[in-house]
Amino acid sequence: MTLKTDVAVIGSGLSAVALTLNLIDQLPPTAKVSLVGKAAAQGRGIAYATKAECHLLNVPAGRMSLFADRPNHFLSWLAEEGYPWSADDFVPRRIYGNYVRDCLDAALKRTGNRAALTLVDAEALSAEAEQDGGLCFALSDGTRLSARASALCTGAGTRRLPLPEEALSPAVRGSVVHDPWADAWWERLPADADVLFVGTGLTTVDQLLLLKRRGFRGTLHAVSRHGLLPQAHLAHRADPVETVLVPGQSEISAMLAALRAQATAAPDWRAVMDGLRHTTHEFWQTLSEAQRSRFLRHAASFWNVHRHRMAPAVAQEIDDLRRSGQLVIHRGRLEALRREDGRLAVDLRGGASVTADLVVNCTGLDRCTVSASPLLKSLAERGLVRADPHGLGIAVDDEDSVLAADDTSNARFFALGPLTAGRHWEITAVPDIRVQARAVATRIGALVAAG
Ligand SMILES: Cc1cc2nc3c(=O)[nH]c(=O)nc-3n(C[C@H](O)[C@H](O)[C@H](O)COP(=O)(O)OP(=O)(O)OC[C@H]3O[C@@H](n4cnc5c(N)ncnc54)[C@H](O)[C@@H]3O)c2cc1C
Repeated sequence: MTLKTDVAVIGSGLSAVALTLNLIDQLPPTAKVSLVGKAAAQGRGIAYATKAECHLLNVPAGRMSLFADRPNHFLSWLAEEGYPWSADDFVPRRIYGNYVRDCLDAALKRTGNRAALTLVDAEALSAEAEQDGGLCFALSDGTRLSARASALCTGAGTRRLPLPEEALSPAVRGSVVHDPWADAWWERLPADADVLFVGTGLTTVDQLLLLKRRGFRGTLHAVSRHGLLPQAHLAHRADPVETVLVPGQSEISAMLAALRAQATAAPDWRAVMDGLRHTTHEFWQTLSEAQRSRFLRHAASFWNVHRHRMAPAVAQEIDDLRRSGQLVIHRGRLEALRREDGRLAVDLRGGASVTADLVVNCTGLDRCTVSASPLLKSLAERGLVRADPHGLGIAVDDEDSVLAADDTSNARFFALGPLTAGRHWEITAVPDIRVQARAVATRIGALVAAG
């Protein structure tokens, strides 16, 4: 059976919902929108599906509205629901997931009578081009969905452990958790076991907090190339400081040196980083491919820990764990995993070794999703998408229209969220995604209105 829709939104996380809500606001009442994604994730994705109260947002509530044109929307929702949090607070991500889901439910109720919005509980497995420039998706429930306009919001997926599968002998395989979000791996762990987390970013921080809440007593190791933990937000945020950088004026190392100098001279470096928030896209777009490569190789890890920070209360808990000696941070690359005296010996490049009972892959969000997603693979094989040259999702043009293998853009086919990091670089957090969602909804609205 082939169903027809005006707009297919593929994915069920925050980007998909933000786009859908903007579309409902902007499309004529007769237009049909289909949101395709697994029902359990609808509105939550990886980020907001957690049930743990200790998993806090890493952006203050005052900047987490889903709507670029209604910045206080989340704050008003919190107040209506009777929650005590205000603009500077870091709210549990579970509550934020409820907010997103509530906004989606409200849109469904509003559009109920005219069936303008349909939630399709399925995965899109493949797609092919139709003659009018639209796409037809094959879904996991056996149906096909033919859409005049489409938007991919499939997120970034999780990165694999940085070791080839053949390096994981059968003897060690059972002691490696590949996806920390997929199952409650900590439930089968003795309270005094030692754990090695691969990665020292926000994913590891989430897992450390969970183990701490469960009274876990073993030693917690975390390793990454630079051994950098995310920096902390201040309890009271300083106003952003205007950046000294001018887009396109200097090459990447000079820009980073100027940024470092400004941050060192400022009363607080965070205000300098925050001053770049609205112009990061512009800077990124002025960089040549070679400069982007250099940035990703040498500076991205440092950028990420300063840009994506921990809530102050979370930072305090991680600091306490380090001071007590329970958490040990290592610098290095994973070289091998061996079974030794019934435990895991993890060799790091350069000769150091860590012993643990379990290894948990917390290397975070993947960048290159084309090979990991059956849908993107099918689109790439048909030449309908091409991977970003740096592995930052898929290539899109200045309007977030998807670029085909021959570099032509399809004005009826868009991508949003981390999938478009190749064009935007910073397009992971809600304050960035909501702006993109509104802009893409406006373009789709114009297309649908034009017939
Ligand atoms: C742990 C974590 C915490 C975060 N905390 C914050 C925060 O505090 N503040 C902030 O601003 N940002 C935060 N972020 C960043 C940000 O909000 C997310 O990256 C954002 O949710 C991205 O949304 P997305 O919809 O593009 O991707 P995702 O959330 O990854 O969702 C994509 C969804 O699409 C589905 N999907 C994939 N392929 C298909 C397909 N073929 N068919 C149908 N469905 C498909 C997936 O199953 C998934 O549910 C966090 C991110 C993570 C991972």
